[in-house]
Amino acid sequence: QLRDGHQPEFSQAAHEVLESLEPALSRHPEYLKSGVLERLCEPERQIIFRVPWVDDSGEVRVNRGFRVEFNSALGPYKGGLRFHPSVNIGVIKFLGFEQIFKNALTGLPLGGGKGGSDFDPKGKSDGEIMRFCQSFMTELHRHLGEYTDVPAGDIGVGRREIGYLFGQYKRITNRYESGVLTGKGLNWGGSQVRTEATGYGTVYFVEEMLRTRGAGFDGSRVVVSGSGNVAIYAARKAEELGGTVIAMSDSGGYVVDEAGLDVEAVRELKEVRGGRLKEYVEGRGSAKFVEGGSIWDVPCAIALPCATQNELADDAATTLVRNGVTAVGEGANMPTTPGAMKVFLEAGVAFGPGKAANAGGVATSGLEMQQNASRDSWHFDYTDARLSEIMADIHEGCRETAEVYGAPGNYVLGANIAGFIKVADTMLDLGVI
Ligand code: NDP
Repeated sequence: QLRDGHQPEFSQAAHEVLESLEPALSRHPEYLKSGVLERLCEPERQIIFRVPWVDDSGEVRVNRGFRVEFNSALGPYKGGLRFHPSVNIGVIKFLGFEQIFKNALTGLPLGGGKGGSDFDPKGKSDGEIMRFCQSFMTELHRHLGEYTDVPAGDIGVGRREIGYLFGQYKRITNRYESGVLTGKGLNWGGSQVRTEATGYGTVYFVEEMLRTRGAGFDGSRVVVSGSGNVAIYAARKAEELGGTVIAMSDSGGYVVDEAGLDVEAVRELKEVRGGRLKEYVEGRGSAKFVEGGSIWDVPCAIALPCATQNELADDAATTLVRNGVTAVGEGANMPTTPGAMKVFLEAGVAFGPGKAANAGGVATSGLEMQQNASRDSWHFDYTDARLSEIMADIHEGCRETAEVYGAPGNYVLGANIAGFIKVADTMLDLGVI
């Protein structure tokens, strides 16, 4: 029985995990007896706060801030901040819940948490973003610390926002505590590869799944939804491995080019110029923009949903299977609906669930914390090699667990059980807390 009433995203995430734990629970009844499941589904702490700020016209605005400190069995709470109008406590709980298992899979000492605000950064000036971030951190700072709770970015929170948040934390606490936030700039404690990590990691994970089937990215048509941080670097790595990225999207629609998109041009458009994806087609004969359409109508061998939750529904999955998709890697958190996931698993598609496939971001955040703790900074190639190793280990852990529990090739079950066992065993060791 989940608490707090109507929280559809949290309920969806919790049911998916709990249902796939069945084989582990019947083999290990001690988990049921010790109340681990009840404790896992109830966050250790939920913080909701007012974020007042002044817009450019001098008007006072009020948003709501959230931080859900879900589980600290394995380490300090760790998970990103999302700024998007769709944010509410149920969305943050779903993301925090997923984060517990994802962080466990990385093998690093990280607990699970998530936070954010219903603030909409779109169309805001730089000064408005800064004042919002300062107000947000003025309240949140009392809950943070490198050994307590370490936020990072997510949708709507990138390096600029992390900078304003870190600046305010430093000012209030009078401490240069680099390890309190990750996703920092390279000059002030950030790690090489953090920007690329989630997208690259997703592709490394899919590459491992394909390898078990004697296949790879080379020569494959790839569709990547979204055109934000995760999508851009997933597309870049897919291209580096020999794939052709045919389509990408944003909330306005998708661009498709049978000759392959110029991923670097998409990156420049979104990251440097802050433009909309439909501007990409200007002056490009073979590319077209489909307003409001479903990107999953574009036939491909490899699909990488990298935008947001529940963006790939049952009918889209059926279309992808009919068009011959062989692998799906979730760069976003829970982009695939439960029905769509079932379609992929039944069709024998190699399906990499987000908590495994997109764990490269938080893993590299963990590496950023290691560098901060030792006052060191590592080179790009070394950090990238560590990321790639971690993704291969996560893949192997999920693959092996699925096999041990009688569902070979089912990475959803493998990821859920492997992550759960690590957290649950630790909770048993630490007593009823
Ligand atoms: P960004 O804000 O950088 O990009 C989000 C992208 O998704 C944008 O292209 C945005 O388009 C699109 N998008 C957002 N909402 C919708 C929607 N309702 N319909 C269609 N498109 C939408 O975020 P990230 O790339 O950082 O995050 C993307 C996903 O990856 C999220 O699920 C996040 O939780 C997950 N993730 C991110 C990690 C990271 O390191 N950044 C780590 C692990 C997971 P538009 O600009 O039009 O809104």
